[in-house]
Amino acid sequence: MIVIMSAGSTRQDIEAVQTHLSQRGLQGHINPGTERNVIGVLGEIYPELQNELEFMQGVSEVLRVTKPYKLASKEFASGPTVVEIGEAKVRIGAGNFIVFAGPCAVESEEQVLATADAVKESGAQVLRGGAFKPRSSPYSFRGMGEDGLKLLANARDATGMPIITEVMAPGDVDLVASYADVLQIGARNMQNFSLLDEAGAVPKPVMLKRGFAATYEDWLLSTEYLMAAGNRQVILCERGIRTFETFTRNTMDLNAIPAIHILNHLPVVSDPSHGTGTWPLVTPLAVASAAVGADGLIIEVHPNPSEAKSDGAQSLTFKNFATMMSQVEAVRGALAEA
Ligand code: PEP
Ligand code: MN
Repeated sequence: MIVIMSAGSTRQDIEAVQTHLSQRGLQGHINPGTERNVIGVLGEIYPELQNELEFMQGVSEVLRVTKPYKLASKEFASGPTVVEIGEAKVRIGAGNFIVFAGPCAVESEEQVLATADAVKESGAQVLRGGAFKPRSSPYSFRGMGEDGLKLLANARDATGMPIITEVMAPGDVDLVASYADVLQIGARNMQNFSLLDEAGAVPKPVMLKRGFAATYEDWLLSTEYLMAAGNRQVILCERGIRTFETFTRNTMDLNAIPAIHILNHLPVVSDPSHGTGTWPLVTPLAVASAAVGADGLIIEVHPNPSEAKSDGAQSLTFKNFATMMSQVEAVRGALAEA
């Protein structure tokens, strides 16, 4: 249930609603807006509550949220959420478009620094790089661990770019959060609820990737875990789903981008690297993602993709990344003028 306060409502009116809720064992989550305040009600809602709230001072409207996710629903928010990243306060959402780019995995100091410089030069705002890698085979390269996090932090110092990196285990959340500006939760862990609980308690943004067999509702319910644990700085990421096609690694679900904007107020990033698995398709799908309204892109870039320790086949060279950036820019510019 959500309570929409009228434009002229006072702080005391809001406090009275909060008290009414807490006396009944319910929680009120305030979402301050520029035009009106919205209070999301969580807990066991009883039939008379709607009427009780409707008659309170300063209340304009009381609506039932029929969706199983609440804080993650569009109704709960007073507009699109903007997430601020790192000390640089890079903004994403509500028309702020950003690109996260870097290697799939951190491999060496030279590799990370060279990639950070190159992607920054082409206009990327956030550096990506995995230090804890979820690999389908236990014999594949599984990342440099904390040494990799240190290399990412050095690259942040050198370039000023905030960093995003994956956390795989609940017990690693504090360690990864002590280095990262954004925590990435991977597709394989989208429904690792203990990990979501831990990441939800961190005062840093989280990027939640869609599981490869997850419906939008599953994905938004996982988002709800992060938000219910207190984290409102969540970025969603569409990274392709499993279909019967075998030529591509996954199938980019471009529907997801405008669909999530209908259902949810958080920014949505597209990951055409994992969504296609093959570098010649990355730029076309990056352009398409921008055209359907993605709030950002996350792209794998490597100084020498054929020697990458992970995901080389889907990694762009520095030159291909620069081309992708200018094509994306062109499409966004054209749309802005349309
Ligand atoms: C990654 O970003 O390198 C990654 C492993 O992504 P996903 O969780 O989407 O497979
Ligand atoms: Mn990867």
